[in-house]
Amino acid sequence: MHTSSYDILVNKEYPLNCTYTPCDLVFLKIPFAPSYEKPVSGDVKESLLSGQLGKYFLRRKAAEAVYHLFQRALEQDIDLYGVSGYRSYERQEQIFKESLKKNGLAYTNQFIALPGCSEHQTGLALDVSAACVGYELEQSFSHTKEAHWLFQYAPLYGFILRYPKNKEAITGIAYEPWHIRYVTKPLAFYLTKTKMTLEEYHKLSFSP
Ligand SMILES: [Zn+2]
Repeated sequence: MHTSSYDILVNKEYPLNCTYTPCDLVFLKIPFAPSYEKPVSGDVKESLLSGQLGKYFLRRKAAEAVYHLFQRALEQDIDLYGVSGYRSYERQEQIFKESLKKNGLAYTNQFIALPGCSEHQTGLALDVSAACVGYELEQSFSHTKEAHWLFQYAPLYGFILRYPKNKEAITGIAYEPWHIRYVTKPLAFYLTKTKMTLEEYHKLSFSP
């Protein structure tokens, strides 16, 4: 499996190399949750990708799919916001270290991915939220009408809910109703229909 494959599996067992940066990151044309940082335009992106502004980027195909997904939402009066897209290895390292200092080892190990182990480094994952939960990434998002809409429509645009409920033992990650992952439309259909995680899919397709 090539690192740039749309079905790439990234987790604690299969981390990404610290040098991996997707070559086709583009600026996301979707509304973002209000934040202290200023969004940037596409031309100055190179120097910004390794820092916290990288979150406004995704790989081209994922970015296009998200754009169409959010357009469809708007047509149906569903107000979705992007919170975090691409995250570089360096940025994840920084987040991990900051959390260590602030929250200690036990908390950090449980809630913050080690550098290389975050799916956001693929440029194929996006955290999504809604105004009614204060744009927070929390499980209460799953009870909103925005989340219900998202669960239904995301697969039609090539996204899966990557960390579902009751699959924590398989993904190694708690239920994250806000985290969607681009895998292409056929695979998103398949995984959603069979209720299979990416971990289960890879075991199935790559075991002898
Ligand atoms: Zn996420």
